Amino acid sequence: MKQISNFINGEFVSTAKTFEKRSPLNDAVIAQVAEAGKVEVDAAVESARAALSGPWAKLAIAERADLLHGVANEINRRFDDFLAAEVADTGKPMSLARHLDIPRGAANFKVFADVVKNVPTEFFETATPDGRGAHNYATRSPVGVVAVVCPWNLPLLLMTWKVGPALACGNTVVVKPSEETPQTATLLGEVMNAVGIPKGVYNVVHGFGPGSAGEYLTTHQGVNAITFTGETRTGAAIMKAAADGARPVSMEMGGKNPAIVFADCDFEAAIEGTLRSVFANSGQVCLGTERVYVERPIFDRFVAAMKQGAEALTIGVPTASDTTMGPLISQEHKNKVLSYYKKAVEEGATVITGGGIPAMAGDLAYGAWVQPTIWTGLSDHAAVCREEVFGPCCHISPFDSEEEVIRRANDTQYGLAASIWTSNLQRGHRVAARIEAGLVWVNSWFLRDLRTPFGGTKQSGIGREGGVHSLEFYTELKNICIKL
Ligand code: NAD
Repeated sequence: MKQISNFINGEFVSTAKTFEKRSPLNDAVIAQVAEAGKVEVDAAVESARAALSGPWAKLAIAERADLLHGVANEINRRFDDFLAAEVADTGKPMSLARHLDIPRGAANFKVFADVVKNVPTEFFETATPDGRGAHNYATRSPVGVVAVVCPWNLPLLLMTWKVGPALACGNTVVVKPSEETPQTATLLGEVMNAVGIPKGVYNVVHGFGPGSAGEYLTTHQGVNAITFTGETRTGAAIMKAAADGARPVSMEMGGKNPAIVFADCDFEAAIEGTLRSVFANSGQVCLGTERVYVERPIFDRFVAAMKQGAEALTIGVPTASDTTMGPLISQEHKNKVLSYYKKAVEEGATVITGGGIPAMAGDLAYGAWVQPTIWTGLSDHAAVCREEVFGPCCHISPFDSEEEVIRRANDTQYGLAASIWTSNLQRGHRVAARIEAGLVWVNSWFLRDLRTPFGGTKQSGIGREGGVHSLEFYTELKNICIKL
């Protein structure tokens, strides 16, 4: 049985109290994870604080950047270890983790090292009454100890999306991975040691939220800033914790993202993109589409093509080369998704495809599998049209005018992402400008340039990260005014 430890001050730390990590494939226990209590969280925060004034602080930016490139290279050298760990925890297809999770997880260290190396700060000349003037220039310094609280859907990728810029800016971190996906964060500790990242710069504490490592970390007054990715409700709890000590937060939270498909779209591209945005990672992508609005003239054809695409997905184990869809993360999440499948039917949905559990052979029958599911026929007020399901499912409804679809797309508490499919670029620009979301794609989905701003509006998030925007959160900007 694998033992997964905390990583504190460069050491792998086990605890008497452990919890089980179960495989999403068959519910078998695959690891025992050391649960950090108050003692371990205190030790992690203290080691991160101490590291702020150790060798890490004395590195020139270029030296720090070189070390972070080293981290990326070492992740890539140990690619297969990371791939195996991520796939064991999540059950996602190897093909997906191989081209997305692991390479992007590594890239996050390089991209932000380069941003920090190359982005200047501001300078202003100021006139003064005595004619001699003043020079203002800004400097950036680290915020301090950053708590990084992570979800389970893209564990390494979303964790390094925070740890990469935090370290590039000279901070130290204490990471709290999701209890569902503990492995890659601890494995990254091995990489940090191998590359020579000083002790205490990167720490990992395992456990749950309330009454466990998540709460102990976010309420800890030795933490200077908290960056969080996860559900909106959890984000709100963490913001309350952050209020004590007036600590800044960066929040990437839930979504209920629309896709808007105009009749003049490239039909094949819209189908391919929407199938991906609904079903990739079994629908467990924050940017994924759960509401699809299709202009009436192509509605029936679109629904038929989506049905065909969903039914062509191959549900299976990660290692099978033809697998295109894995299980959900856990039994608990499966029950949540199935409760929405039930609710959709109760509210009068037409089930175009799916709606249940696929027949799986042998011990896979105990896994967290659900069918890819498409509904039509519901009003915009139905639960599956308003609440985030986070499963492989969508509701498709027709629309008749641009005005109408913009209003319906925006009629949500969330505002993370949207996709617009049209071959009329004027319309693409016009509609994109009016969608209330942090990220809008026209004729694509999940096309990400890591230098661009990322984050949500409304209840989907607070703040932006990505490129120079990450510097706003991970550094303190100081103005120095020199009277000449
Ligand atoms: P979650 O909110 O349940 O858990 C996220 C993390 O918070 C976990 O590590 C958990 O242990 C911890 N946590 C829970 N309660 C806590 C508390 N009171 N104090 C401190 N920590 C606590 O989210 P999840 O189920 O892991 O992830 C799925 C959710 O994440 C979905 O809502 C999805 O939309 C969202 N998400 C958003 C983005 C984005 O960029 N906006 C990206 C990925 C996922």
